[in-house]
Amino acid sequence: MSPVVAAMPGSRAVGAQRPPSLGPSAARTISQTQRRGASSGSPYNALLRARRTQCPNARGSYIWSLSTDRASEIACGRWDCSWCQWRKRAAACLILQWGLETAWSGGERVRFLTLTDGSRGKMTVADFYKAWNRLRVALARDRPGGAYMKEYAAVVEVQKRGALHLHVLMTGRYVPQRKLVGMAMAAGFGRCTDIREVRRVARDREKGSAAYVTKQLAGYLTKQSAVALAAKTNERRRPLRTSRGWGDGITMRGAMRLLADAWLEDAGKDRDSGPFAFVQVLAGGDVLVRVGSEWQRHQPPGANPSQAVR
Ligand SMILES: [Zn+2]
Repeated sequence: MSPVVAAMPGSRAVGAQRPPSLGPSAARTISQTQRRGASSGSPYNALLRARRTQCPNARGSYIWSLSTDRASEIACGRWDCSWCQWRKRAAACLILQWGLETAWSGGERVRFLTLTDGSRGKMTVADFYKAWNRLRVALARDRPGGAYMKEYAAVVEVQKRGALHLHVLMTGRYVPQRKLVGMAMAAGFGRCTDIREVRRVARDREKGSAAYVTKQLAGYLTKQSAVALAAKTNERRRPLRTSRGWGDGITMRGAMRLLADAWLEDAGKDRDSGPFAFVQVLAGGDVLVRVGSEWQRHQPPGANPSQAVR
């Protein structure tokens, strides 16, 4: 996946399911381009020069900038893709670290807890998230003195023998350990619940340091973990979940975009501001171009486009 594609709003590379909706301004740009004859209104020239992704699961989808006539191939953006996974993991680490820094700069304490299966390995991924939803609601309940949990980031781990763990970073006021364990068990989790404080000032190798915790969590966000998680459930589950306010509300998409911007800056390239069209190459060589809510079909100009494009 190219950095440009990662920066595209709505691109599948950052997890959205639909191509971007462009609105009337993009449609206007396309028709102006067509009138000027700059690219004959066809994306073929741009596709020939397109920046290719190394994602092995790319399916001939492109983002085409109507202002610069540059196209970039879209990566699949899945956690279990060998190429896309490391970018998602980098973004996940950014989210975790950003959240820790935001919490500490706001004077919050951060605790790290590990939740285990309460039924000797029989809990499914769905059971696990249901238990987490129960616990999360209980912890966030308003109490005199403040809620036990304000914001969180949670990473699911599938252990070698298939049992699930949930690792949670959370802010909020102090909860006595026994109380927290009791609440976790009432929600359906097991007894073994590791709780420790994550400290801002700690040596990097210390168990409670931000670097240690982030590294540990990143270890559960590998391709192997995504495959193991997929094997346990029919649905595509996100291995990282955060509360709305974690890290000032940073999202996966936002983190990917920030990283893409940083990588673009490193490469000394300007960011393309679009507007962008979504282009899908069909098996026969025709291309579909999505402008606004409409798909336009383009025929290849003369030459065999499936060779030219692919
Ligand atoms: Zn991929």
